[in-house]
Amino acid sequence: MLQLNDAIGRIGTESAFEVLARAKHLEAQGRSIINLGIGQPDFQTPAHIVESAVRALRDGHHGYTPANGIPALREAVAVDVHRRLGVPADPGRVLIVPGGKMTMFFAVLMFGQPGAEIIYPDPGFPIYASLIAFSGAKGVAVPLYERNGFGFSAEDVLSRITQATRLIILNSPANPTGGVSERGEVDKLVAGLRRHPDVAILSDEIYGQMLYGGRAHVSLLQYPELSERLILLDGWSKTYAMTGWRLGYGIWPATLIEPATRLAINSHSCVNAAAQYAGIAALTGPQQPVADMVAAFAARRRVVVDELNDIPGLSCIEPGGAFYVFPNISGTGLGAKEMEVKLLEEAGVATIAGSSFGRQGEGYLRLSYANSIDNIRAAMGRIRDWLAKRQAA
Ligand code: PLP
Repeated sequence: MLQLNDAIGRIGTESAFEVLARAKHLEAQGRSIINLGIGQPDFQTPAHIVESAVRALRDGHHGYTPANGIPALREAVAVDVHRRLGVPADPGRVLIVPGGKMTMFFAVLMFGQPGAEIIYPDPGFPIYASLIAFSGAKGVAVPLYERNGFGFSAEDVLSRITQATRLIILNSPANPTGGVSERGEVDKLVAGLRRHPDVAILSDEIYGQMLYGGRAHVSLLQYPELSERLILLDGWSKTYAMTGWRLGYGIWPATLIEPATRLAINSHSCVNAAAQYAGIAALTGPQQPVADMVAAFAARRRVVVDELNDIPGLSCIEPGGAFYVFPNISGTGLGAKEMEVKLLEEAGVATIAGSSFGRQGEGYLRLSYANSIDNIRAAMGRIRDWLAKRQAA
């Protein structure tokens, strides 16, 4: 019998990938499935970005790059951060990684161990809790509430800090709720963190350019007092519709960039060279495709929220960012997992149970509106008819 490391038994998964596999299986059997499950833009990567990768391959960029990323890309990240967030960034603190997830993995590996505590949002991206468990640290969930628009309360975070707390994970705009942190709460949190100088922060801002209703992104990078303990997670996957390219970056404190780079050398060596050239084109080229995508998401958000609120048994607050809605399903009398399974199998709509994102997500479903307005309307019709039929039975 093979004797696996205990940590492997503790590592979880992301149910969006499991639902995707089930949806594909049903489609292969001839069923019509509308996929509102997976969290990726339904747009193609803009053509000029694709071209730059093709050119890089033709120009012979086939070898390893520096482990932390090609200098021109790290420079482009610093310039982009300055342009968007109004704060100077040091390219020497940028670590290019294969997707946003890798920054998360490295941050949790760096701070998580038995005896340590890591604070994370619930409901939240499921990989946070999974990696914390894998590391042997204790995960301490901060509940996020619908009544607060699923934004965090600084008091709720600060009250969970103990002598053992090593890292706090924040995510805004958030997966799975679309919730956005309010600047006032972030100010309060940062002020409270002065009393806890040994606690690091991982701020996952991968949806930082997907905000609606005139909202501006509040980045933890805008708080210089955190710069020696803030790890910023961002990347190209969502902003530039590049999920399959596997390209992300972290901005690390000066003292952590060296161990983070060693983790890179020990795991992936460097990111695919052509993808890095594509990353330069994305940041330095026209930004209109991003604006167009965000405008399309904003229009879909309107439709999905209105339609959900029109379905008896469901209610949905208007999320501030990302491309998810998190409707409350408690009026249906169904559990989240039961509704996810039945909606897929009986109504042909893929969604994700809120409970897959933490205990606090029970009573909710996550729907991604990264799909066409026609498909969204059709999916809402299927959900409405399916619920009506159940109620009539
Ligand atoms: N962080 C959050 C909150 C996400 O939702 C995702 C992807 O769904 C990621 C990070 C990971 O992004 P990537 O595909 O670049 O690894």
